Amino acid sequence: MSQDERVSVFETAAAQFDRAAELIGLDDETQLLLKTPFREMKVELPIRRDDGSLGVWQGYRVQFNGSRGPFKGGIRYHHDVDMDEVRGLSTLMAWKTALVDIPFGGGKGGITVNVKELSVYELERLTRKFIARIGHILGPYRDVPAPDVNTNAQVMAWIFDEYSSRHGYAPACVTGKPLAMGGSPGREAATGRGAVMVFEEVAKREGWDPKTMTVAIQGFGNVGSFAARFIMELGVKVVAISGSRGAYFNGDGIDIEAAVAHRKETGTLEGLGGVEQITNEELLALDVDILLPAALGGAIHAGNAPNVKARVILEAANAPATEEGENILVEGGNVMLIPDVLASSGGVTVSYFEWVQNIQQFGWDEGRVNNELGKIMSRATSEVYELAEEKQMSLRTAAFILAIERIAEAERLRGL
Ligand code: NAD
Repeated sequence: MSQDERVSVFETAAAQFDRAAELIGLDDETQLLLKTPFREMKVELPIRRDDGSLGVWQGYRVQFNGSRGPFKGGIRYHHDVDMDEVRGLSTLMAWKTALVDIPFGGGKGGITVNVKELSVYELERLTRKFIARIGHILGPYRDVPAPDVNTNAQVMAWIFDEYSSRHGYAPACVTGKPLAMGGSPGREAATGRGAVMVFEEVAKREGWDPKTMTVAIQGFGNVGSFAARFIMELGVKVVAISGSRGAYFNGDGIDIEAAVAHRKETGTLEGLGGVEQITNEELLALDVDILLPAALGGAIHAGNAPNVKARVILEAANAPATEEGENILVEGGNVMLIPDVLASSGGVTVSYFEWVQNIQQFGWDEGRVNNELGKIMSRATSEVYELAEEKQMSLRTAAFILAIERIAEAERLRGL
């Protein structure tokens, strides 16, 4: 990814905010309050490598807006992470939590690191050092991290342990934990499941028949692999999937369970049987009904958007399209873009359920989690869809308006 594309995560989010704020005539002072991060922290993370040498990485946490509740947002481990990206992703979290109307604000964190270069012991030490350095701004009622790219339930368990060793037992200090440590059933699958629930609601309103549709999925990690399973259950044919090193196509439909098993066993999609290898760019240009980005930000940009043939873009990833890329996609009015703030909000919604269960010390079963998730996804999608129809605007702008109005009201009520 080029620097230009990376910078766009924050710029893209800011442009989306400006468009919606202008449409509702949001006054300048409130615009300023809603565009300014509450707190940004950068920390140095020195650890001993396994060979005894010193390694130093940089970590970030941005707490963007907390007027509606504790800051909430994932922690990403990736070599492209920088303050601008974390800040951009933290703004999206604020809009997302407000849109689904859960009592959280928005935050995000990350470490600039290539996880493939670290052993599991080094990764644990790095995670613990990060929490040691930012732990004083975290907590169940301050800021609650969660998984994101290259972090998982194990990383959340280290975060929980490190935080609790300093502040006392506090399972609600982080979500996305393993079940054995206060995690919630259904959390791992929640972002993929939520994206498909949103799609199902839109499909119903648009009169689409999922059984006649095809999808190409970019990224086959947590979000992409679960989205693949659930969208297949609706009858949509998954014809392509991809990882960072390549994409795989089968016009008759990919065997998703085999792909999940292969990746689990080998750590990669390479060598998967029954598929034709194509390039990542070819996947984006496939003649499919739905394109489901579930990898990194800026994947669809001015350079490749003209090649996209899908008429539905289901943004399960955060900020997968740049502003320019999106403008090209929706030009002509034939493409329906279901925006990230809505389509990728299932994870944070079940994180909220996990936090509630931890605070109440009362566990829910998976049926209850999925049922409550369905209610929230359906309500949020209906609100966005109906506002967009009424005002003849994009789903993204409608989603931003709903979110901005909720945060603006909380800011006004709190006062300065
Ligand atoms: P993950 O690390 O589990 O998976 C990311 C996947 O993307 C990997 O399979 C990786 O190989 C692939 N990938 C990376 N670069 C690629 C490229 N250029 N082309 C194709 N594939 C590529 O991460 P995740 O948790 O699934 O997150 C994916 C996206 O969803 C991110 O944008 C993240 O911010 C967003 N998201 C995640 C959650 C969550 O609960 N995990 C919640 C909301 C949004």
